Amino acid sequence: WGCTQAPQVVAVARPIMGTIVEISVAAQDEDAAFHAIKAAFSEMERIEREMSFFREESELSRLNRLAGRGPVQVSQELVALLRTSLRISRLTQGAFDVTVAPLLRLWPIYRAEKILPTDDRIREALSHVGYRKLMVSEHDHTVAFADPGMAVDLGGIAKGYAIDRAVSVLKGLGVKAALVNAGGDLYAYGRKPNGDPWTIGIRHPRQKDGVLAAAKVQDMAIVTSGDYERFFIKDGKRYSHIIDPRSGFTAQKTASVTVTAPQAVVADGLATGVLVLGAEKGLSVVESIPGVEAAVITEGPSGGLEMRVSANFLKNLEIDPASI
Ligand code: ADP
Repeated sequence: WGCTQAPQVVAVARPIMGTIVEISVAAQDEDAAFHAIKAAFSEMERIEREMSFFREESELSRLNRLAGRGPVQVSQELVALLRTSLRISRLTQGAFDVTVAPLLRLWPIYRAEKILPTDDRIREALSHVGYRKLMVSEHDHTVAFADPGMAVDLGGIAKGYAIDRAVSVLKGLGVKAALVNAGGDLYAYGRKPNGDPWTIGIRHPRQKDGVLAAAKVQDMAIVTSGDYERFFIKDGKRYSHIIDPRSGFTAQKTASVTVTAPQAVVADGLATGVLVLGAEKGLSVVESIPGVEAAVITEGPSGGLEMRVSANFLKNLEIDPASI
């Protein structure tokens, strides 16, 4: 006699990439569900180890040490991720740029000494930034920097990539429905055992732990970048952790950007890029990419918030416009 268990949701959380990642799966068999979740976490941890800017032994750190001197052989995986980064840089007219690292380290949020950089230092760092100077050869799996002062930081895209990889591991192990939620950046596919789509809360940029709207997510990624995540305030001015690679200054225009896309890696990169571009330019970029939607929240001079959305954002997430 086969004993059929009622399907249920099995969820496990772990700290990865500076956030809490929760993986929920619709499970027929509890053991198989735990096994799949464990494998997905291992994959995310592997990506964290290889793609970390701060770990000396990561593949990325090796690239940063060597690529200024000439082409460096790297994994197929890093080549592919860098090519995706370059594609997002082109789409966002350079607002998303993984070569932004020399600028990041100038700003208080990224350093122990809480002082603002001088214009000279920004100008100097800017001369070592630019995705066009990152040479990635798909053919022979090499990467080179056109300028020895360059460095690559995948902080704007690695989490999204890790989410996609976790999803791929879960699907490969036969999981029919799952939600991989890395601190509000997530991918969901399939439906819950009761037949409902996964429901998530879109974060509110000005209320701690506040939810802007409830959204139904099916077979897509949703990623939010906001100026409220990590920031530094001096003389009443907010300095975000996202830097405009073209001016060298912290992104100023936007409180938060939520992007939906078929892949979390794309949503993650675009959320950062659109945050830099601001509502008008950012939404026009989003409207030009099939399958991608976004909501951009801007803080007005008096502190009021204004939300603008691309054509199908609310519809795709089944958000009632009257609820926001
Ligand atoms: P998180 O959700 O972890 O805050 P985001 O997706 O918002 O991450 O990306 C922020 C990270 O991206 C920064 O910590 C930094 O490493 C990197 N970054 C900052 N500005 C840019 C930019 N203009 N282009 C690409 N990466 C950036």
